[in-house]
Amino acid sequence: MSVSKKPRTVTLIPGDGIGPEVVHATCRLIAATGAELEWDEQIAGRAVFESGDNTGVPQATIESIKANRVALKGPLETPIGFGGKSANVTLRKLFETFGNTRPARVYPGIETPFSDRDIDLVVVRENVEDLYAGIEYMSTPGVAQCLKLISVKGCEKIVRLAFELAVAEGRRSVTCVTKANIMKLSEGTLKRTFERIAEEYPGIEPNFMLVDNCAHQLVRQPEAFDVLVTTNMNGDILSDLVSGLVGGLGLAPGANIGRDAAIFEAVHGTAPDIAGKDLANPTATMLSGVMMLRHLGLFEAADKMEGAIAVTLEEGPRTGDICGEGPRCGTTGFTDAVIGNLGRTPANWKAKDYRPLRMPEVGPDPVFVRPQRRRTLGLDVFVESGDSPEELGKRVEEIVQESPLYLKVISNRGTVVYPPTGTPTDCVHAWRCRFLLRDHAAELDDEALYGLVRSFAGKLRVNGVTRLEELDGERGYTLSQGED
Ligand code: NAD
Repeated sequence: MSVSKKPRTVTLIPGDGIGPEVVHATCRLIAATGAELEWDEQIAGRAVFESGDNTGVPQATIESIKANRVALKGPLETPIGFGGKSANVTLRKLFETFGNTRPARVYPGIETPFSDRDIDLVVVRENVEDLYAGIEYMSTPGVAQCLKLISVKGCEKIVRLAFELAVAEGRRSVTCVTKANIMKLSEGTLKRTFERIAEEYPGIEPNFMLVDNCAHQLVRQPEAFDVLVTTNMNGDILSDLVSGLVGGLGLAPGANIGRDAAIFEAVHGTAPDIAGKDLANPTATMLSGVMMLRHLGLFEAADKMEGAIAVTLEEGPRTGDICGEGPRCGTTGFTDAVIGNLGRTPANWKAKDYRPLRMPEVGPDPVFVRPQRRRTLGLDVFVESGDSPEELGKRVEEIVQESPLYLKVISNRGTVVYPPTGTPTDCVHAWRCRFLLRDHAAELDDEALYGLVRSFAGKLRVNGVTRLEELDGERGYTLSQGED
């Protein structure tokens, strides 16, 4: 008995600006490969904001992605004056698409200063944490603060994804890119997680690089890189850098990968300057479609589609953004040419073998790390004051004279200013007062903790409190500049 396989349904979000042009071009091409997909077309972006929904993503779209678990989307616009939250970020957070993968490969016929270099790399960017978690405050009227939140669980997911991607694509190395020399705890968490997990993948070479050096090396010898895994903001910047190396935004595809959904989209935006004029380059969205077909296990259709795109880029015609001196065409003409080239093999470009990507399984338990020993040693209290360091120091010493805690240091923008250090520091009116237990072997209990905070009432304006902890004997906080 033959079993008929139902076509897979994919949520389709044409998006704004050039979105509908490049997305529909991609759908035409996918249909021409013979891949059996059904599209469930939904909306998000400008029209949704303008209808009064300030999330930019209606419930019907959310339900469709929930049901289909895979979406192909065009770029979305967040019109000014509609709440300010981006519909893209909403989608990313709603579906916990923790990994953003952006491949960069040199295609034939594209002239860049790097055309003759064998660039073929993937940036795997953490997509929901870090400075982009959106946790910001004005700690005082003149001092803004943004929380860089990095969890071991989040790092574990992204590092595993990077190694699994390396396995699926037959790649030889994964480079962990951080700024762990400066941000030892936050960026260091990615580095330490990477060191631990790399041991499970003995066939893949683990490398480490600081992000500033990485930016430099990517320009000097991009062909030396394979998979890069990095935190959200590093990844945002590096992935745009690498798309520049291989020909620009018109060619840069991407995927947002989560456990429950994967959303495929080009890196570029809505390109309002060329929208509706049949000028947009659909290659980036087409290549995102190739990634989507592989994600769905439709490897043959993906290879066929990628091969035809490569032949077309090699021979032309190409869209205005990448045509150089060669023949130029519009979005429709390019799509027709790619469809006409289905089944052909490019002369100067080699297809790769892909295997299914094994999604990392990292369990839902929010308590991801359980130290055997933990102890609260003290407290950082953040205060607002226009005093000089000496004046503030005296006031704080008075406030805590009855407390089991003593004032160890006051720092300003991370540098110790009290007790006086003799070095000039240009202070702002947001200070961190660090208190430790007078009895170093003791444990700070809640009564002493809240007692200390209460003692500031009516005397100094407190705008934040953070525990100082020791976890399995390791200090769970960093020292200020000049603190020992
Ligand atoms: P953009 O990527 O839209 O455009 C930058 C430049 O690149 C423009 O000159 C544009 O014409 C060109 N360009 C982009 N894609 C192209 C293509 N496929 N073919 C040919 N040329 C192309 O960036 P922007 O102008 O900074 O942003 C415009 C809007 O897009 C903003 O509202 C922004 O918020 C939004 N945006 C959305 C996404 C997304 O939905 N994923 C990503 C980035 C920007």
